[in-house]
Amino acid sequence: MKLALALLLLTGTLLILLSVIPAMKICRSDKQFGWRALFSLIVLFSFGYLFFLFLLLNKVIVEQIDIIVSLILFGGGGFVFLVIRLSLMSITQAQELAEKERYKALHDPLTSLPNRKFFSININKTIALSKKTNSSFAVLMIDLDRFKEINDTLGHDIGDGVLVEISKRFSEVTNKKQFVARLGGDEFALVIPDVDNKQAIAVCMALHESLNTLISVQNYDLAVDMSVGVAMYPKHGTDIRMLLKNSDVAMYQSKKDKVDSFVYDEYLNRDSLQRLELISGIKQALINHEFELYYQPIIDAKNNKIRAVEALIRWPKKGIGPDIFIPLAEEVNLINDITLWVLNEALEQVKKWSIDYPNLKISINISVLDLRNINFPNKVKELLDRFAVPANMLIFEITESAMMVNVERVKRVINELSELGIDFAVDDFGTGFSSLSLLRELPSNVIKIDRSFISTIQSETDNAAIVKATIDLAHSIGRRAVAEGVENERVAALLLDMGCDYLQGYGISRPLNSDAIELWLAKHAFENVTLLSS
Ligand code: C2E
Ligand code: MG
Ligand code: MG
Repeated sequence: MKLALALLLLTGTLLILLSVIPAMKICRSDKQFGWRALFSLIVLFSFGYLFFLFLLLNKVIVEQIDIIVSLILFGGGGFVFLVIRLSLMSITQAQELAEKERYKALHDPLTSLPNRKFFSININKTIALSKKTNSSFAVLMIDLDRFKEINDTLGHDIGDGVLVEISKRFSEVTNKKQFVARLGGDEFALVIPDVDNKQAIAVCMALHESLNTLISVQNYDLAVDMSVGVAMYPKHGTDIRMLLKNSDVAMYQSKKDKVDSFVYDEYLNRDSLQRLELISGIKQALINHEFELYYQPIIDAKNNKIRAVEALIRWPKKGIGPDIFIPLAEEVNLINDITLWVLNEALEQVKKWSIDYPNLKISINISVLDLRNINFPNKVKELLDRFAVPANMLIFEITESAMMVNVERVKRVINELSELGIDFAVDDFGTGFSSLSLLRELPSNVIKIDRSFISTIQSETDNAAIVKATIDLAHSIGRRAVAEGVENERVAALLLDMGCDYLQGYGISRPLNSDAIELWLAKHAFENVTLLSS
C-alpha cells in the first residue's frame, strides 16, 4: 500500500516538475505578474510534494488521511501540468497569430515586400541613426513607366506578374542594408543608408540594369522601364515628409525628362528651368552632334617628344566647360552616352592618325558610372573592332572614388577592359579622398598628379615635396607619373629634376580642336616641343 501511494505521489511530483519549464517559458513571453506568482507557487509545490513523499516513506503505518492527501496531490499535479501545457500552447498560438498579423500589416501581400507603413517606420529609424552617426542616406522613389498600359492591355494578372518579378530583381541587386518597399500600384521605394548621392546613383543604375532583360510573364516578354527620384538626407530634407516629397518631385522630373534617375536639388525649385534646359540640352547635343573633342598633347619629359593626347570634350554652342555639364550628365545617367560618343569620336581620330603617328596613344576620361555598366566592355570592344584600332592605343583616365557601391562589379568591368589591353590612369591624383585605394584597385600604368600641386610647385615648398614624393611613389610601384597643368619651362625643368615621366599643360599646348591638333602634330612630329618660357 505504502509503495503504491509513494508511486502515485512520485508521479504527481513529476507532473509538477514537468510544469516548471513551460511555466518559465510563459513567464518569459508574457510579463504579467500573475504568471510569475504561479511559477513561484509551482516551485513551492514541488518542494511540498517532495517533503510529503519523504514523510510518507518514513511512516510505519499508512493512515487513511495519507491516502486522501496522496490522491489529492496526484490530481493536483496532473491539473497543474495540464493547465500550464494548454496555456503555453494557446499563448504560443496567439503570439504566432499576432506575428502573422503584424507581418501582414507591414508587408505587401502580392510581392511580400515591406509596405508604405513599414517604409515610413524604416525612414524614421534611419533618420534617428543618421543623426547619431552624422551620416547621409538616400531615399529613392521609383515609378514604372507606362505600367498602366500593361495592366490595361494584358490584364491585371500579367501586371501582377510583372510587379512580382520586378520586386525579385530589386531584391537581388540590393543588399540587406538597403530597404526596398512597394508603396502601392507601380510605385516602389528604397532607403539606402550611409551613402552620398553618387553612390545612390550607382544603386539607381544597378536597379535600371536589373530591368535590362525582358520580363517573361505567361508567354509575354515585356520590356519595363522606370523613373527614379533621389532625395538625400539631410541635404534635401531632415524629416520623412520632406524626403518623400522631394524624392517624389525628383521622380516626376526624371519621368518628364525621360532620364533614368534624377537627384533632387534646390535647382528644381529655384533654377529648375535653367537646369532642366541644360539636361535636355545635353540630350539634344548628343543627337545633334553639338559636342566637339579637343586634344591636349602629353609629352615625354626627357626628350619633349609627343607621347599621347588627352581627349577633352567641349560644347561650343553653350560655351560651358565639362566641369559643369559632365557632373550633371553623371547625375542623370547620360554619362554613358557621352562616353560612348567621345570614344567613337576619339577612335575615329586615332584611326586617321594611325598612318602618320602609329604610336600616338589617346587618353579618355571615363566616369566611374561607366565602370558600373556591365555592358561597357562590350561596347568598347565593338568600337575598337569597328575602327580597327588596337586596344593598347587607349588609356582610360579615372578620377572618382565612388567605387564603393558594388565594388565587385566595378572590378569585373575594369578587369575585362584591362584584358582587352586598355591602360588605365589615375587622374587628378592627390585630390580624391581615396586616391590611394583607387590606385590599389586599378591596374593602372600611370598616375596623373593634379594640377593644383603642379601650378604652385615653384612657390610652395610643401607642394614641391608632395609632387616629388608622388613621383617616387609612382615609380616604387612600377607606375609612371604625369604632371598636369605644366604652364612653363621652369616648372617642366623642376619636374624633370624630380624624375617626372610625362608632362601636360598649357605650357606645352592648350587643348586643340582636331584641325589644330593635326597641325600641331605635323609640326612636332620631327621637331621637339619647346615649352612656353613663362
Ligand atoms: P582632367 O581630365 O583633369 O583634364 C585636364 C583639365 O585641365 C582640362 O580641363 C584641361 O583643359 C585643363 N588644363 C590642362 N592643362 C592646363 C594648364 O596648364 N593650366 C590650367 N589652368 N588648366 C589646364 P577641361 O577640359 O575643362 O576639363 C575639366 C575636367 O572635365 C577634366 O579634367 C575631366 O575630368 C572632365 N572631362 C573633360 N572631358 C571629359 C570627357 O570627355 N569625359 C568625361 N567623363 N570627363 C571629361
Ligand atoms: Mg583627365
Ligand atoms: Mg586631371
